[in-house]
Amino acid sequence: MGEHEIICREFVELVTEYLEGTLGAETTDLVEQHLVMCDWCRDYLGQFEATVEAVHEIDHEPPPKEMLERLLTTFRAQAWEEDI
Ligand SMILES: [Zn+2]
Repeated sequence: MGEHEIICREFVELVTEYLEGTLGAETTDLVEQHLVMCDWCRDYLGQFEATVEAVHEIDHEPPPKEMLERLLTTFRAQAWEEDI
């Protein structure tokens, strides 16, 4: 806990890397610890995965990184509006 605790805003920044599996083992652990206790981030992750999946089904190929970045920007904007 303390300085090693991931907060929701950090999770939002890390979510694409988390899904791509490019976070280091230590950060992945911290993210997963956070997900266990944070409904908001579990929700956010679920919505993000669902969106990525929807795009995938239309294109029949993994969404390009650019598109993920755009989605992420949209998601972030929505997240901040809801004021976590
Ligand atoms: Zn959270």
